[in-house]
Amino acid sequence: MNARLILLPLLICATSAAFAQDKGSVDPKPLPPLANPRDPKLAAKELFARKLLPAAMPTRVIGSYTAGCVAGAEQMPITGDTWQVMRLSRNRYWGYPDTIALLKRLSVKAHKDAGWPGILVGDIGQPRGGPALSGHASHQIGLDADIWLTPMPDHILSRQEREETSAVMMVRPDRLDIDPQVFTPGHLMVLRDAAQEPGVQRIFVNAAIKKALCREAKGDRSWLSKIRPWYGHDYHFHIRMACPPGSSECKGQQPQTGGEGCSAAELAYWFKDSIIHPQPPKEAPSHAMTLAALPAACKQVLAAPNAKP
Ligand SMILES: [Zn+2]
Repeated sequence: MNARLILLPLLICATSAAFAQDKGSVDPKPLPPLANPRDPKLAAKELFARKLLPAAMPTRVIGSYTAGCVAGAEQMPITGDTWQVMRLSRNRYWGYPDTIALLKRLSVKAHKDAGWPGILVGDIGQPRGGPALSGHASHQIGLDADIWLTPMPDHILSRQEREETSAVMMVRPDRLDIDPQVFTPGHLMVLRDAAQEPGVQRIFVNAAIKKALCREAKGDRSWLSKIRPWYGHDYHFHIRMACPPGSSECKGQQPQTGGEGCSAAELAYWFKDSIIHPQPPKEAPSHAMTLAALPAACKQVLAAPNAKP
């Protein structure tokens, strides 16, 4: 295993644990123009982060969750009856149309089933997908979305609240279980509703949350197989959709196999001291994928004119 593969989980850990608490600004400064946007050594994230609108192209998912882009992305409206989008300054509320429809549907279910006023939506993707300047390695093809584990409040949040409100930590300080004061039966219902959606490929949650779901889920438990422990994910959960039917350029993942993932042996790895209290990497990994590392069609997506807002 090379050094990058060892560092990757630590990087994901550090970034996803921190991100829900990364505050934004109501008046974000536009990124400065690039001196040489054609430099082949330029990190692709610099190019994708400067695209403020989707490509005016037919809808297309190109590449994989961690190396790809999307054309014809749709915007998640920032306020609905049962959802609100957070951290608007990140401009990451764009996704494949099925992802947007899924989030709207889940928000209604969270209201009906869990009694939440609605959901708070975190990062989906950039207008043209691709790598981002901060945070995740994935979320590149419009099929990943983060939902806060904090229920939506019963009022419309101001721009400032959307940038500055912190999400609630769901995991106990010793990291071995959830905090029952904040992680409630409603959370189980919201996660179950998400996992039972046929288009959902997998869902990432903190291992303490997976452990709690394993303990508390009643009745049909088959949905638990889609819920996977991962680093961080103690303030939000991550929904990943499967490649849409007919999208031949989308490189997805194998469907989940095996059972509920609830045995002591399967969970033990995540509760080893080295995993729940990982050491930060000695140097920050570069995370500087160039355009050459993405499918060639992503160059067309970047070059296309803006879709009409
Ligand atoms: Zn995510």
